[in-house]
Amino acid sequence: MPRPILATVHAEALRHNLDRARRAAQDARVWAVVKANAYGHGIERVFESFRAADGFALLDLAEAERVRALGWRGPILLLEGVFEPRDLELCSRLGLWHTVHCDAQIDMLAAHKTQVPHRVFLKMNSGMNRLGFPPARFAAAWTRLNALPQVDEISLMTHFSDADGPRGIAQQIEVFERATQDLPGERSLANSAAVLRHAGQTRADWVRPGILLYGSAPDFPAHDAAHWQLQPAMTLATRLIATQELAVGDTVGYGSNFVADRPLRIGIAAVGYGDGYPRHCNTGTPVLVDGVRTRLVGRVSMDMVAVDLTPLPSAGIDSEVVLWGRSSKGAELSIDEVAASAGTIGYELLCAVAPRVPFALDEGRAQ
Ligand SMILES: *Cc1c(COP(=O)(O)O)cnc(C)c1O
Repeated sequence: MPRPILATVHAEALRHNLDRARRAAQDARVWAVVKANAYGHGIERVFESFRAADGFALLDLAEAERVRALGWRGPILLLEGVFEPRDLELCSRLGLWHTVHCDAQIDMLAAHKTQVPHRVFLKMNSGMNRLGFPPARFAAAWTRLNALPQVDEISLMTHFSDADGPRGIAQQIEVFERATQDLPGERSLANSAAVLRHAGQTRADWVRPGILLYGSAPDFPAHDAAHWQLQPAMTLATRLIATQELAVGDTVGYGSNFVADRPLRIGIAAVGYGDGYPRHCNTGTPVLVDGVRTRLVGRVSMDMVAVDLTPLPSAGIDSEVVLWGRSSKGAELSIDEVAASAGTIGYELLCAVAPRVPFALDEGRAQ
């Protein structure tokens, strides 16, 4: 028998969340952001559910090839653009749209031989200071691009640093609008947090939701997934493979940092940091056993964790343990809560599920 751990991707949740993005984004077209192998879910597994999107946005050229190989003929956008000149050949061949965020990328385009001009998204650094032309040089970059025979339509984009937090997006919008007011072209600004929290504040032809599609709240703990009516798209589950009876003073796991202050029954679950479950989760991190919420005790090992069975007198070997997502009894545990226990965000946990974890696709009800 294989080790009982399994990650399940819920197609119905993906469809629901995409629909949620579409409603929040009103008239804008929706890029389904599927970078990092669809936030760890697997591009091939999410593809059918996201067919209703207007395009796929990602940044790895090999992932773009995979989306084309699945039969997608619509738009694909490279969010970081090309990395070297020959990437442009792939863009020509596969009809990829690409971000242009620096002069070197314009130089590459100017030297590129192509029959078919490329659709590009010119990126402004409106305050995040990661990628993009500064506002003062944006119009000049546009003019230079626009003069190239290799370039077709130019869209304008920027990315928000604080759409999920108290700073908000007003200042970046102002910078962006001022520097683009005389430029034609479609606009793309909003990530998940901006789509959910700041809808209506941006003129947007294209929105770029990622995390919300996978059912994690972009602004946890200010709001949780239920608040935004998002459904968890991934369940990470395993089973108990042992139980132990602790007496007062007994310890659990490496470092003995959990000490029983009363007699305690614990279960040992087949999951650990070797599966991508964060080692920073410590005593108190929520887990579901047979659909009942309980807590981790002691340190996370590579292959095992211990859970408190106090609320579950009938649990034993083979009991279902859900690390995040939905139990077979329907109870839910938000990945955001688990991430917060580990001092991180849902994004990181989703992307970090280890290659040794098998995946299944739960197709849900047919549409
Ligand atoms: C990752 C990414 C997004 C999606 O961000 P979420 O917070 O996951 O919605 C949007 N735009 C760009 C440029 C990105 O890199």
